[in-house]
Amino acid sequence: MFTQYDLEDIRDRARAAFIGMAIGDALGATVEFMTASEISAKYGTFREIIGGGWLRLKPGQVTDDTEMALCIARAIVKNQTWSLEAIADNFAAWLKSRPVDCGDTCRKGIRAYMLHGQLESPPNEWDAGNGAAMRIIPAALYSLPDGELLKKYVIEQAHITHNNPVSDAACICLGQLLHMIICGAEKSRLRRHADGLVARFPTFAFDPYRGLATGYVVDTLQTVFHWFFRGRNFEECLVGTVNQGGDADTTGAICGMLAGAYFGMEAIPRRWLKKMDARVIAEIEIMVERLVDASPLGRMM
Ligand code: MN
Ligand code: MN
Repeated sequence: MFTQYDLEDIRDRARAAFIGMAIGDALGATVEFMTASEISAKYGTFREIIGGGWLRLKPGQVTDDTEMALCIARAIVKNQTWSLEAIADNFAAWLKSRPVDCGDTCRKGIRAYMLHGQLESPPNEWDAGNGAAMRIIPAALYSLPDGELLKKYVIEQAHITHNNPVSDAACICLGQLLHMIICGAEKSRLRRHADGLVARFPTFAFDPYRGLATGYVVDTLQTVFHWFFRGRNFEECLVGTVNQGGDADTTGAICGMLAGAYFGMEAIPRRWLKKMDARVIAEIEIMVERLVDASPLGRMM
């Protein structure tokens, strides 16, 4: 039934997506909350993983974006099933471990779980931050290639902290794009899919690009799409994205996920990979393999 899939290619793209995400997080964190002109005044074009930034990171250190995605991945792999409680438990343990960073909406949702066992935040028209969209990758890998499972997983994990129709639309669109890329779709096809999101939610329009890269999921996706669709390789996509500043670790993480999957492991600059925290990369590699193996696609192969 799944003979049209090349499992080796899928594994490579899935690995490059998760590692690309961590690299975008570590690269962008240095310039998070700077403006594009502050970045260019200080660095010219910013293109090296050097740590620092407002969080005073070590070079190659990742932040909440990658850490929350790993919380979801570990919950799936450990239980070999989709368990929202297990995911929320991991979020809670992570928050108690005093992470280097945690967004306000994420903190609020995790606290509501810790205090009241709440697994679904009430709908909130203001909670359209990018905190749910930044961590969709395990849900996308574990649901490969099933579009209905993808929606269920992506939205359930999102609603632990973010319950908002604009955030939901962003999460689903990113998950669908990731499925399409991992299964070998070309950019023209992906562009049509992104344009479909814009047709339904015109607020996401990214052409012409407005240059806003805040933590509002609309600005975040505009930035990611602008640079993903124009970048000719992994490095160009990421450098363009993080030099916009703003929520640069998160725009970097999401663009790194898409560009990693699209261009594959070969395209990830060695100098960036070598700077990354080796334990994080090793765990990501194990998680990706187990998530793909446990997905409907992996189980058919
Ligand atoms: Mn972060
Ligand atoms: Mn961020």
